[in-house]
Amino acid sequence: MIKVIITGSKGRMGQALVACAKNFRELEVTGQVDKGDDLGAVIDQGDVVIDFSAHTVTPEVAALCAGHGKALVIGTTGHTDTGRFDISKAVAKIPVVWASNFSTGVNTLFWLTRKAAEILGPAYDLEIVEMHHRLKRDAPSGTAKTLAEILADARKLQLDKAARHGRVGITGERTPGEIGIHSLRGGDVVGDHTVIFANAGERLELTHRASSRDTFANGALRAALWVVQQKPGLYSMQDVLGLK
Ligand code: NAD
Repeated sequence: MIKVIITGSKGRMGQALVACAKNFRELEVTGQVDKGDDLGAVIDQGDVVIDFSAHTVTPEVAALCAGHGKALVIGTTGHTDTGRFDISKAVAKIPVVWASNFSTGVNTLFWLTRKAAEILGPAYDLEIVEMHHRLKRDAPSGTAKTLAEILADARKLQLDKAARHGRVGITGERTPGEIGIHSLRGGDVVGDHTVIFANAGERLELTHRASSRDTFANGALRAALWVVQQKPGLYSMQDVLGLK
C-alpha cells in the first residue's frame, strides 16, 4: 500500500484527487493538507506527496519532501524562474514527477505536436490557443507553455524570442519564427488546448478538451504510484506513460 499526502486538498484539484484515490486499491490517502495546516507535522505518514496547492507554495513543499526523503508529484503551474530554480535545487535527492498536465490525452497531444512539427517543417505557422475557467490565476496555462516549448524545440527556436503572447494594434506581418500563444478565460471550462499548423492552402489543428478534473487527478495518482519506485531524479508524465 502506497501512502499519499495531498497538499491543496480542499481546492478543485485536491478534492478530485481525494475522490479519485478511492478507486486505486494500491494507495491510501494518509494526509490532507491545505492552507493553515502543517505539512511538516504529517509528512512522515506518507511515501509520496502530491502537490496541487499554488506555485508559491511548491518550493517549500519540495524542500520538506527532500528533507524527509519523500517522493513528490508536482501539479502546480505558473512558477517564476526563481521558483523553478528553487524547486529543482530542493528535489535533487528525491524522485519527482513534474508535469504541467497529467491527462493521458494531453500527453498524447504533446507527442503528436512534436511529430506534426517535425513532419510539416518550417513553412507552417504555429499558433497555440488555450481556454480555461474564469478563476484560473496564471496565463498562459502551464500546458500551453509546454506545447510552446515542444514546438520551439522541434523548430530549433529560442522560445523567449519566438513567443508572441496575443496581438494588438499595428503588429506588422507575421514573421516565420513566431509561436503565437493566446489565452481565453471564461465560465467553468476545465481546459481546452489547440495547436494550429497553418500554411498557404491548408491548416492542421490538434485539439484536446478536458471535461472533468478527474482526468488530471487519475494521472497524478498514477504518477504517484510510479514515482515511489524510481531513483532520485526529475521525471515527466511522458516518462510515467512510457511515451519517450
Ligand atoms: P484551487 O485554488 O482550487 O486550489 C488550491 C488549494 O491550495 C486551495 O484549497 C488553497 O487553500 C490551497 N493552498 C493555498 N496555500 C496553501 C498552503 N500553503 N498549503 C497547502 N494548501 C494551500 O486551485 P486548483 O484549480 O485546484 O489548481 C491548483 C494548481 O494546480 C494550480 O497551480 C493549477 O494551475 C494547477 N493545475 C494543474 C493541473 C495539471 O494537470 N498539472 C491540472 C489542473 C490544475
